[in-house]
Amino acid sequence: MTFQDFNFNGQLFEGIESMGFTTPTPIQEMAIPVVLAGQDLIACAQTGTGKTGAYLLPVLNHITGTAKHQTSVLILAPTRELAQQIDQQVEGLAYFTGVSSLAVFGGGDGMAYEQQRRGIQNNVNIIIATPGRLIAHLTSGVLKLNHLTHLILDEADRMLDMGFSDDIMKIISYLPKTRQTLLFSATMPGRIRSLAKAILKDPQQINIAISQPAVGIDQQIYRLHDQQKTPLLQLILRDSAYASTIIFASRKEIVKSLYKELKAIKINAMAFHSDLEQKEREEILLKFKNKQLPVIIGTDALSRGIDVEGIDLVINYDVPGDPEDYIHRIGRTARALTTGTAITFVNHRDERKLKNIEQLIERPIRVVGLPDELASIQAAPQSHTDDKRKPSRPNKRWGQKKPKNSSSNSGGSAS
Ligand code: AMP
Repeated sequence: MTFQDFNFNGQLFEGIESMGFTTPTPIQEMAIPVVLAGQDLIACAQTGTGKTGAYLLPVLNHITGTAKHQTSVLILAPTRELAQQIDQQVEGLAYFTGVSSLAVFGGGDGMAYEQQRRGIQNNVNIIIATPGRLIAHLTSGVLKLNHLTHLILDEADRMLDMGFSDDIMKIISYLPKTRQTLLFSATMPGRIRSLAKAILKDPQQINIAISQPAVGIDQQIYRLHDQQKTPLLQLILRDSAYASTIIFASRKEIVKSLYKELKAIKINAMAFHSDLEQKEREEILLKFKNKQLPVIIGTDALSRGIDVEGIDLVINYDVPGDPEDYIHRIGRTARALTTGTAITFVNHRDERKLKNIEQLIERPIRVVGLPDELASIQAAPQSHTDDKRKPSRPNKRWGQKKPKNSSSNSGGSAS
């Protein structure tokens, strides 16, 4: 299938070409015809599958040409980072269509609020918003959504996790009853189905290989104790094969202390967490995107939505408690059909969490042996390793990435 098969209008086509999209991804192949037909849709797809294009393209096709000076499309997203990324895709795809868009999110100063207010008053065609800030503009009376034709919920599961359920229902109470509603979620727990029941009409359903990591990710684990974690990290980061790395930790305190440890050993890394000002967070992300910053350390907040191309390596400094978060974390690499490596550090306390992940992805993750030089590092008295499984082989070679065509243990099919 090609993009020509969808019969999009010419201006949108130029946008698709300028973004370098040549072939639709599987979620796009499945979702675009449904949305073009005007049906409601519930789609289970993770970030990295091309899901944003799957809803943006048909919606842009609908409003291009017919877009008046009014807000026709509302996209709700859980975080400001995701909202900004969606806005960037809108700007790229809609560049030649004359459709206007605005990202509306919390944080920032009074000036940011004022800029958003002015954009809203200008009746931009598409608003991409986090729920809390949108409600502020709705209740202040500045924003009127009487002419809305399309509502999209992106990463709906994350929005519910973050406690936005009531906000979503409140926002919907401001919208016309006749509209097309599209719900995208990485997972489909019962509460998402209840939400879908409440806000969608006879929706079509699409599942893209639920909860499977992208095929191009080489997943590895190291079994180790806590005192070996930072020395191992140091060895891996000194490996020149990895130009762009994200390190995930479960709590921001760990992120902060890891940042200090890496700084002390002169590794160029920055910490990304909620205590930073929005401007600082944006600057860090920009540096990382521009490849001026090789290493970024963050919590799971960073695992959703960050859309940076060419990340070679994801390191899980600890095992995430929710197996879905593992998929999100490692999904930062190998985006849009490329390859990458995901390494997870597993101490004895995290064995149960690892088991849950392996159950979810329906395969064991390859165990790599610790480099010899780390063997002599003693565990702290209260900690001990509990290696039940033998590692496949010791890993002494740091300058080597898995060859691109290697097929070993690279996860199931996401697309
Ligand atoms: P998403 O899952 O929407 O976050 O998209 C992940 C990445 O894939 C983004 O960088 C998109 O620009 C890119 N992308 C989306 N659709 C395509 C496509 N058909 N061909 C190539 N890249 C794409």
